Amino acid sequence: MTVFSHPDFDQHEKVAFHHDRASGLTAIIAVHNTRLGPALGGCRIYPYSNDAEALRDVLRLSRGMTYKASLARLPLGGGKSVIIANPHTDKTPELLAAMGDFVESFNGTYITAADSGSGVPEMEAFAKRTRHVVGAGNRDASHGGNRSGDPSPSTVNGVFAGLKAAAGFRLDRDLQGLNVAVQGVGQVGFGLAAQLVESGANVWVSDVYPANVERAVRELGVTAVAPDDIYGLDVDVFAPCAMGGILNETTLPVLKAKVIAGAANNQLGTAAIANELHQRGILYAPDYAINAGGLIDVFYEREGGSADTLNAHVLGIADTLKEIFLRSQEENLPTAVVADRVAMERVNAG
Ligand code: NAD
Repeated sequence: MTVFSHPDFDQHEKVAFHHDRASGLTAIIAVHNTRLGPALGGCRIYPYSNDAEALRDVLRLSRGMTYKASLARLPLGGGKSVIIANPHTDKTPELLAAMGDFVESFNGTYITAADSGSGVPEMEAFAKRTRHVVGAGNRDASHGGNRSGDPSPSTVNGVFAGLKAAAGFRLDRDLQGLNVAVQGVGQVGFGLAAQLVESGANVWVSDVYPANVERAVRELGVTAVAPDDIYGLDVDVFAPCAMGGILNETTLPVLKAKVIAGAANNQLGTAAIANELHQRGILYAPDYAINAGGLIDVFYEREGGSADTLNAHVLGIADTLKEIFLRSQEENLPTAVVADRVAMERVNAG
């Protein structure tokens, strides 16, 4: 296994491997870039089938966080950590304590947060060993409101603002009567669907977990469709809020929506899909730009700031997207390419 010649190595500043014999912890922390500030990024707990898979994930995810923080105009760099473990069976107090110590060994150049396989309880466990953690339970009311540590509501607000901006730019219309398909009605998708319904949009939803669909239908009055049918609906906007890789060679041919704006990370199956979307006149809101509300939320948890300051920053996601859309139009480039450029221009400018 190589690191410096790894295809996903992108001048990462630090990649540390750690094994703690007593607790069984096996983890990697990657700090991609700290030019704009300390690297903040979640801790993913996943039963990777081998070390190479874990390394690939942490290299790619940490780089993505540099882009996300930069586009969100946060004084933060990009980092990420992975624990090679089963999140359902392996999260012992000893293992989490050892991970807290590993995070602490970075002296604040890496700040950890929740990700797939980890949440508020794990952040609380890390917080017993390190100050460099966000999303660990109740925060002071002056720190963006008195909430549970869950950044999802801010993610919802950012995606909603971004979707509205995208519909305005591409379709020149507001949300009243707009037809929107929401894939996945979990924490973010449900909140997004609720705001859309409240604004007069017609909403279709899908989820592989039937109870979530039933709740959305019951509480929001949305229309349910089968998971595979969500792509081909004759709607104005497709909002992916489930998993990554869903914009691919299979789904693209059936898509009728002219706007794609949702929370899911890594929506593009391959980089080439960005070109195809652009050529077909489908406006894609780059995922890491539109879903940055959660990152902005945890930044204010750490640094302090009123709920109004947090909300204003989150709503600024719409302005960033408009800048990307405009530049994509002027330079005839896919929005995803423009987003990467804007992000790195800001990092390089320091
Ligand atoms: P969640 O787990 O609460 O919800 C995801 C939902 O998608 C679940 O209800 C799940 O059953 C459903 N789902 C899974 N596969 C599906 C499929 N094939 N078709 C339809 N539904 C499917 O997660 P979340 O916190 O709502 O996050 C949603 C997405 O947004 C994820 O990709 C996440 O990485 C991303 N994201 C979330 C946040 C946040 O603050 N929660 C921030 C940034 C990005």
